[in-house]
Amino acid sequence: MAATRTFSIIKPDATERNLTGAVNKVIEEGGLRIVGQRRIHMTREQAEQFYGVHKERPFFGELVEFMTSAPVVVQVLEGDNAVPRYREIMGATNPAEADDGTIRKLFAKSIGENSVHGSDSDENAAIEIAQFFTEADIVG
Ligand code: ADP
Ligand code: MG
Repeated sequence: MAATRTFSIIKPDATERNLTGAVNKVIEEGGLRIVGQRRIHMTREQAEQFYGVHKERPFFGELVEFMTSAPVVVQVLEGDNAVPRYREIMGATNPAEADDGTIRKLFAKSIGENSVHGSDSDENAAIEIAQFFTEADIVG
């Protein structure tokens, strides 16, 4: 199986509770490799662009506020079937519905403050990676 890439964000609720290493441990034990990583404080413009697909949703304003409220860690993850594999490792959007052992079951506070983002397709992974990384900053 060929290794592919996905894009991840460790969200403000997790960085604020000093859970970056704990989240990374679940990612690595799940079989994905962190091949790019940077800690940033997202601007409103970055968050609005990143979540543009959700612009019409009732929670959009709240989501942008949350994503800009504290630092995040943006990541590129690599491994076999990285996109669907990371969705499994993350667990369901709503932590109440997430399987045991998933990042969201272990750490998420709510459906909004749910600790991590992961791309939902290879196409979106490429778009999202390009928003935050150049190839030179990704070392596999
Ligand atoms: P996922 O992150 O699992 O791909 P979505 O793409 O549907 O989920 O939503 C993007 C993000 O928007 C979620 O991770 C969460 O932070 C937030 N969100 C989704 N649904 C809600 C909701 N009903 N209320 C508040 N925030 C939400
Ligand atoms: Mg999504």
